[in-house]
Amino acid sequence: MFNLSRYFLTLSFVLVVLAAGVLGPLYRNLSLQQLNELAEARNLAMASVFDNAYRQKLNDLLLASSGLAVAQLRQSAGDSGLQQASSQLFAGSEVIKVKLYNRLGVTVFSTEAAQIGDIRLDSGGFKAAMTGGVFSELTHRGEKAAFDRTLREGDVFATYLPLRSQDQTVIGVIEIDQDITPHLRRLNINQWLMFAGVFGAFALLYLGQFVVVRRGQGILEEQEGRIKAACETLEIQVAARTDELKRINTRLEAEVGERRQAESKLNYLAYHDPLTGLANRRYFIERLQETMGETSRRDQRLAVLFIDLDQFAQVNDTLGHAVGDELLVAVAARLSEHVRLIDMLARLGGDEFICLMEALRDEEDVAVLAGEIIGAFESPFQIGEHELFLSASVGIALFPGDGESVVDLMRNADTAMYRAKAAGRGQFCFYSPEMTATARERARMENLLRRALGQGELAVHLQPQVRASDGQLVGAEALVRWQSPELGQVPPVRFIPLAEETGLIIPLGEWVLRESCLQVMQWQLADYILPMLSVNVSVRQLQHPGFVTRLSAILTETGLPPQRLKLELTESVVMGVEGGEDILERLRDLGIQLAIDDFGTGYSSLSYLKMLPVQQLKIDRSFVIGIGQNTGDEAIIRTVIELAERLGFEVVAEGVETEAQAAFLAGLGCYCLQGYLHGKAVPPEDFRNRWLRPS
Ligand code: C2E
Ligand code: MG
Ligand code: MG
Repeated sequence: MFNLSRYFLTLSFVLVVLAAGVLGPLYRNLSLQQLNELAEARNLAMASVFDNAYRQKLNDLLLASSGLAVAQLRQSAGDSGLQQASSQLFAGSEVIKVKLYNRLGVTVFSTEAAQIGDIRLDSGGFKAAMTGGVFSELTHRGEKAAFDRTLREGDVFATYLPLRSQDQTVIGVIEIDQDITPHLRRLNINQWLMFAGVFGAFALLYLGQFVVVRRGQGILEEQEGRIKAACETLEIQVAARTDELKRINTRLEAEVGERRQAESKLNYLAYHDPLTGLANRRYFIERLQETMGETSRRDQRLAVLFIDLDQFAQVNDTLGHAVGDELLVAVAARLSEHVRLIDMLARLGGDEFICLMEALRDEEDVAVLAGEIIGAFESPFQIGEHELFLSASVGIALFPGDGESVVDLMRNADTAMYRAKAAGRGQFCFYSPEMTATARERARMENLLRRALGQGELAVHLQPQVRASDGQLVGAEALVRWQSPELGQVPPVRFIPLAEETGLIIPLGEWVLRESCLQVMQWQLADYILPMLSVNVSVRQLQHPGFVTRLSAILTETGLPPQRLKLELTESVVMGVEGGEDILERLRDLGIQLAIDDFGTGYSSLSYLKMLPVQQLKIDRSFVIGIGQNTGDEAIIRTVIELAERLGFEVVAEGVETEAQAAFLAGLGCYCLQGYLHGKAVPPEDFRNRWLRPS
């Protein structure tokens, strides 16, 4: 630390010494100068007195001096009586000697007689006075003569001044010596007193200041100690705080990391389908929007491919959602293999996928990709123990051309996909503007059908089935009718496929079953007996879990004996449904009859059908039309009937319109006929009036 006391001590000592060293000599010089001036003034005054009093004698001595020997000079000086006179004149004064020199520097008179005759031509004082000036000097002498005594160790102040004649010429020089020993001694004493005073004053001042400085130093040291302690405390606090901040920082970093992770996860979830990991609808829309802008700027083209799985709903319905989910993941993986890196594959939801193809060269590029996508479904999907056969329908919309906005493009690709689906499974189709009208119509019909179910716009009509041999009623087929206030009478060929695609067939089919069973039982209560009721069942109904349970519930509910219910299934239903055979077994176990509808249009062989619990075959109307016209058709019918009867199937012919057809069929041994010849499908009341009689 800065030692204030030490610096102060050194500095003040130097100052005191300096002050004493400077002030002492200064004071001495000033005093000496003053003393000299006073002594000179006194000498001049004495000389003037001496000159005035003894001028004549002095002149005489000077005039007479030239050429005289020393003894003569001393003689003439003694004779002048000056010795005595000056002794009296200067008695009691400090003047101790008076001398007179002539122009040649010869001492012509001195109060110390021994000096008369000395030559002082070289003396500085003499020379100065000879030129008209006054000269004084202070000398210290060990011994000197005074008028009547001898002085020891004294200080003598000698003044030389010119002696002038009346015409002011210098005729000689007077030297007056004055004893200033007491004055000089006093001066020395004063000087010492002065020095002691100054020293004392400075010492006192120093002491006072020293006390103050010591106190200051103490305060400084005390404060320094306090500051040091405060600093140490502060350092400890800072270290503790730094540690705490470090801990907080680490925690914050961890939190920020977690939050970032959560954010990126959220972001990922916001833009991806959690099941397949593909981009989701939102991501696709944003990317399409962006790409459309770029495509326009660069004058390029792009394509949107809407991909829909044809039989996915059935899988989901029969095998459950877990298998359905796995299948979707497998489909996503297989589709990804065919999409270029720059293109984007997304899942819109359900079994709908969509693909964005950028920077097209021509439509052929898209057709190739669409073909590859469809081809990707050629081999089955192995999900657990299930081997699943699927196909996909692809609709394509191009930009520019098939829509100006994202919404338009996606909707038009969807429309084209429906057209592809309608053309048969596993097809692709480019959008064309007239499709929009069809799609709109389809969407409208779907809405109306949904409403129709709840609002009693549907009805069940019945068509008779008669024995070929005697024309007796053996049963009736229930056929659904839709009387729409907006669309009028809508034929089943138009709305049944739509209901199958949308899943509406499930409630619709159940309604037909219950309604027709109820009708038969109501008639029975009134004693009108319908021996057998045939109801059409579509593939989606059959695959829907719980179909058998629901069916037996309806039978219990309505009271219709299962033996009097026949379900009509198309060939594809039986062939295409996984586990379909099991369901048929369960239906057979319930006691329900099964018929293969539209027989001949599919590819199933009779020997295969024989292995199923099926009792009846319905020869499709398209063959019956050929009777009497197409020998090929006739040959087919003949073979089918013969084979079927041999294998134990009952054969029913559909669409019998003429007597000739009926006769031909009856002749071959066909068991039962159904067609306009015997009656169209009519409302229950008409049917009862025409066909039923109370038993
Ligand atoms: P399908 O099961 O083969 O029904 C026979 C169709 O042939 C009926 O047409 C019937 O009206 C028609 N038909 C019968 N005899 C003749 C004839 O002599 N000449 C002509 N030209 N046609 C005749 P519809 O009622 O239009 O039904 C068409 C198809 O719709 C049915 O074919 C059936 O597959 C389906 N369908 C009808 N109702 C239902 C239903 O309630 N559930 C299900 N799943 N499908 C139904
Ligand atoms: Mg039928
Ligand atoms: Mg049929």
